[in-house]
Amino acid sequence: MTNIKAKKVLIVGGGIGGLTAAIALRQVGIDVDLVELKAEWSVYGVGIIQQGNVVREMARLGIADQCLSHGYSFDKVRICNAQGNELTIIPGKRLAGDAFPANMALPRIDLHNILLEKATRLGAHIELGVTVESFEQKPDGVSVCLTTGRISEYDLLIGADGIYSKIRAMLLGDQFKPVFTGQGGWRCNMPRFPEIDCLTVYRGERGGQAGFCPLKDNLMYMLQTTAEPGNPWFDANELHTLFKQRLAEFEGPIARARDEFVTDPAQVIYKPFETIFMEQWHAGRVLLIGDAVHATTPHLGQGAGMAIEDAVVIAEELQAYPVEKALERFMVRRFERCKFIVETSLQIGTWEMDRSLPADFDGAVRRMLEVTAQPI
Ligand SMILES: Cc1cc2nc3c(=O)[nH]c(=O)nc-3n(C[C@H](O)[C@H](O)[C@H](O)COP(=O)(O)OP(=O)(O)OC[C@H]3O[C@@H](n4cnc5c(N)ncnc54)[C@H](O)[C@@H]3O)c2cc1C
Repeated sequence: MTNIKAKKVLIVGGGIGGLTAAIALRQVGIDVDLVELKAEWSVYGVGIIQQGNVVREMARLGIADQCLSHGYSFDKVRICNAQGNELTIIPGKRLAGDAFPANMALPRIDLHNILLEKATRLGAHIELGVTVESFEQKPDGVSVCLTTGRISEYDLLIGADGIYSKIRAMLLGDQFKPVFTGQGGWRCNMPRFPEIDCLTVYRGERGGQAGFCPLKDNLMYMLQTTAEPGNPWFDANELHTLFKQRLAEFEGPIARARDEFVTDPAQVIYKPFETIFMEQWHAGRVLLIGDAVHATTPHLGQGAGMAIEDAVVIAEELQAYPVEKALERFMVRRFERCKFIVETSLQIGTWEMDRSLPADFDGAVRRMLEVTAQPI
């Protein structure tokens, strides 16, 4: 074990976790190279919900104001039945102080642009269309050969390359694969209804829940989780029809949105839910963060939040301790928290698919709020 602190880190993957790590590491004075496989930025998905714990870290990173100005703030989650009648309100926690809301949501593309602009401004060196060809662990660092042919030495390599992480396979073997959970998620953007002033969830009886999440004053998305036995493939031209069929049991605002706005298959996004939780997150001078080691289903809206927290924590630890010690401390701070999110999200999905089980959906959300309110 050396007593030298990290000076130079390579991040693999320019998603939410990788770009946030670039910001957090630059803010503590560590040199950052980031390589992203895609030759051009393209951001998949609709919107991203950031709950109190994530708003807290965004504020510390100095990007909460920008996120707020591109998104929509709210302090509660409304739970309704399939007929659209309110059942309960779950209040959020203003963890970043009164100046910031308990929750916010914004389009993924806006979050990406904010993260990329900040990482670039802080001096992270970002290359597109590049990845790691191979790496060699050394006693005091890691030697990395990139697909450009360049070979560079780093104190740490951070794999933030998502659920199908190549760095995970190179480090720990390719026997670890994400698993389909039996459900999928449907999303569609549309104009915000005036009454949808917070994340609003409608509890269905047929294998999933529907809901709305406001993204801007004039924009929201409708979402649904559904049981999809056998992980079927869907024709892209049929997505609007399939989404409508799955929403058939709902009345009230969901029915209105379904009938008025789910009309264009190109506007509907379907994603099978896959998950992976790794027992080991690092070896030598390589660390995996985000979906590469703890990809969760979106039932608690915390997947990106956990990637963001990982990024903040590893920067704090690398600033304070030599690399090996920092990695040990990182695991203590991150493992159980991320495991809780993955397991509780899976539990909610299981309850949705088997309505004969005794379920406590609201209790799971309240417990998540308690756990994530704890300092990271
Ligand atoms: C339907 C759905 C809704 C969700 N909603 C929410 C939500 O509301 N709130 C929330 O907190 N979370 C949500 N999540 C989870 C969230 O999207 C993920 O947890 C988050 O994106 C993980 O970030 P990441 O940086 O670890 O991985 P990713 O976002 O997957 O980023 C990985 C990056 O690495 C790049 N890459 C891949 N392979 C390589 C390689 N070999 N070399 C270099 N680069 C590579 C990719 O191109 C990508 O840019 C949702 C997920 C789903 C499926």
